[in-house]
Amino acid sequence: MRSLKPDYFDAPVFSHIYIEKEILSHPRTRQLLERFPGIPRIEIDHYKDVFCRQKQDYGLQQRSRKLILAGRREHFLYEGAPVCQDFGNRHFYYSSCVMNCIYDCEYCYLKGMYPSGHLVVFVNLEDYFRAVAQKLREHPVYLCVSYDSDLAALEKLLGTCELWTEFAAKHPDLTIEIRTKSANGAMWDRQEPLPNIVYAFTLSPQRIVEQSEHRTPSAQARVSCAVEGMAKGFPVRLCFDPMLYCADWQQEYGSLLQQIDRELEERQMTWEQVRDVSVGTFRISKEYMRILRAKEPDSLVTQFPYENVDGVYQYPPKLKQQMEQWMIEELSGRISKECIYHEYRT
Ligand code: SF4
Repeated sequence: MRSLKPDYFDAPVFSHIYIEKEILSHPRTRQLLERFPGIPRIEIDHYKDVFCRQKQDYGLQQRSRKLILAGRREHFLYEGAPVCQDFGNRHFYYSSCVMNCIYDCEYCYLKGMYPSGHLVVFVNLEDYFRAVAQKLREHPVYLCVSYDSDLAALEKLLGTCELWTEFAAKHPDLTIEIRTKSANGAMWDRQEPLPNIVYAFTLSPQRIVEQSEHRTPSAQARVSCAVEGMAKGFPVRLCFDPMLYCADWQQEYGSLLQQIDRELEERQMTWEQVRDVSVGTFRISKEYMRILRAKEPDSLVTQFPYENVDGVYQYPPKLKQQMEQWMIEELSGRISKECIYHEYRT
């Protein structure tokens, strides 16, 4: 059974730590290792020696996870994928300084993308910063730093959001999105709000959290954390994306919206304080879905009879439109239409 313990991530959760020899003396390696006294350490040549091994058992790795500390040598920035919302930004990139997530959503595309469930942390953030600074010399940059992990959920362990925030403070042409399902209110006390750091909370009804988003904080905890951030002046985006189908989805998503209404009201705030919202139903590439279905054979989300539209699995068009339109209409009664993003690039 998949466990859900509120303090699960307060304690080190790794059975072993693998460390690339080349970054053994990197200051961040040393700093991170200090946080894990007593955990067996194994030196390796390259993270792929462990991460890309043949025939890995994903379920076993979920129960006995390894931390891999590595140095990224190339590909510090990627152009945003067409299935991702670009929020109207022309120069849309994402970067991957951590691979994999401490949460366990059944529908997570990382399960389709990576051969391993172990967590890889690239310690050489200075090289990412250099690559972004170089790009900024050409044009403004919109950068999602938390696509291939949930950096805010790992903040206590890694402090990566804080480092990106320090970097963004010096580069006003850079806008960073930190996507998260976490509910760690402590992060609001560790940094100052910046207009160019957007905290994007993915929100789902509690029923879906319990069914499919294992180990994540409850819907209420996420809503409270997001609203607390707004109250403290942080730009917060609310993401109803991916919306997931369930028999009474209107009622479930309606309750979620009411939860947000209540939380805002309790703090004497309004939806106008939400920076923007995004709406989209679940979608995933055909190739990732093939692997995901093999890894999650009992999942209602992965086994749904999706339609393949140009290599992207998505809900049948009628259902997709019905769900997205319903959500947009609900949101339109709460927030200005300009603040609602719902089309991803095709
Ligand atoms: S929070 Fe996001 S990255 Fe983490 S398991 Fe869930 S879908 Fe994947």
